[in-house]
Amino acid sequence: MDINCSKEELHLFERISKAAELLNVSCFVIGGFVRDKLLDRPTKDIDIVCTGDGIALALAVSDTFKHKPQVNFFKNFGTAQFRVDSLDIEFVGARKESYLPESRKPEVEPGTIEDDQLRRDFTINALAVSLNKENYGKLIDPFNGVSDLGQKIIRTPLGPDITFSDDPLRMMRAIRFATQLGFTIVDDVFEAIKRNKERIRIISQERITDELNKIMASKKPSVGYDLLFRCGLLKEFFPQLTDLSGVEIVEGKGHKDNFYHTLQVVDNTATKSDDLWLRWAALLHDIGKPATKRYEEGHGWTFHGHEVVGERMVPKIFRHLKLPQNEHMKYVAKLVLLHLRPISLTKEDITDSAMRRLLFDAGEQIDDLMILCESDITSKNKQKVQRYLENFELVKERLREVEESDKIRNWQPPISGDQIMAIFNLTPSREVGVLKTAIREAILDGIIPNNYDDAYRLLIEKAAELNLKPV
Ligand code: ATP
Repeated sequence: MDINCSKEELHLFERISKAAELLNVSCFVIGGFVRDKLLDRPTKDIDIVCTGDGIALALAVSDTFKHKPQVNFFKNFGTAQFRVDSLDIEFVGARKESYLPESRKPEVEPGTIEDDQLRRDFTINALAVSLNKENYGKLIDPFNGVSDLGQKIIRTPLGPDITFSDDPLRMMRAIRFATQLGFTIVDDVFEAIKRNKERIRIISQERITDELNKIMASKKPSVGYDLLFRCGLLKEFFPQLTDLSGVEIVEGKGHKDNFYHTLQVVDNTATKSDDLWLRWAALLHDIGKPATKRYEEGHGWTFHGHEVVGERMVPKIFRHLKLPQNEHMKYVAKLVLLHLRPISLTKEDITDSAMRRLLFDAGEQIDDLMILCESDITSKNKQKVQRYLENFELVKERLREVEESDKIRNWQPPISGDQIMAIFNLTPSREVGVLKTAIREAILDGIIPNNYDDAYRLLIEKAAELNLKPV
């Protein structure tokens, strides 16, 4: 075998080889599995292509197992899939494709292995390994994919304009692979992406966002966002992000390029956490800046309230990008809203109550918020960054102390809204909110201790101001 496989994988390939021989079809392992094996990357998805009926081959292979794996097949696409242990194996017949300009759906007809390799997106994804008796284990590399793997470059088997025009999703895939693998997209391929960028409009937003999330999950997401920006694709589907780019200068004063600052923050976050949504929060933390940008004479550039504007933009952006409208979205919006708060505590003479307030407002998200905020400390001046980071450590330390003594993180005030309604015989109303807030604020500010009796006394006092008496 020209690729390094585990025992389990080799056994499986032998089974497939024998089953194919009995069916009198030739078959090959192809695509991502071969690429990843040559790169020594972990991979569990195996694609098998055969010159014939992929579903029939899958069923025949499944039949060779004592405990036959359940075969799932899709007649319309001629594909079949099953799992053995941790491996996910997909079977398809080799095919030849031709595309019509207005759609991603090609005309498909059965083809040879060469036809099938030719319809693959990149040379590094067109590698195949034979599972046929005459040349079992031989690598079939018609477009010098192995050499491209060595040179760490992304190239297309066909002319890149045809590749991208046929299926514009491949432009996203090129950038995603460049980011995941740390590869370079060769110049003429990158130029072709620039020329074909508008074709991305025929691709569903879900598929674009899938690629975006893979870029986001990679080690250095900025690589992908920078490429998306420079080729013009990003503006096509995410103009709010490209609006962050550029520097304006008035009276000799400029501000930082918020696009590249944002990318730095995403990368910093990625070194500290694998959480996809925290990375999204990093990407969107300054999204409200373009809308709030002002030049104040004698003072300089300001972005007052950008965190509030940004928080409001999050649901719209999530809807537009077809990201989930659920607690992940709320989490991102909350982090965007709070992202300036921890850094504002680095000033001197900050009270414990300010610390308690942040702990209360951030709740379960306090640790993630601290990661985001720390990642937001970027500057070309290394000493400045160092100084800020040291101050930030002090804030973290104090937050830890306050949390230890006051346990604010999951704290609920000692009297609930329901209790307030029962005490004064109220229906849900503004008054209930006012009284609830008064108790919470008094405790967070350290005006009264955190217990029922003191809270009750305060409640009666505040209720009297609203002409309310307990029943
Ligand atoms: P990953 O698993 O990281 O997404 P992969 O290369 O295995 O990487 P898949 O989407 O599973 O990606 O695709 C499997 C193979 O199918 C690819 O290696 C490639 O040969 C081919 N392929 C996938 N999508 C396209 C496409 N849009 N155009 C041409 N070939 C494609």
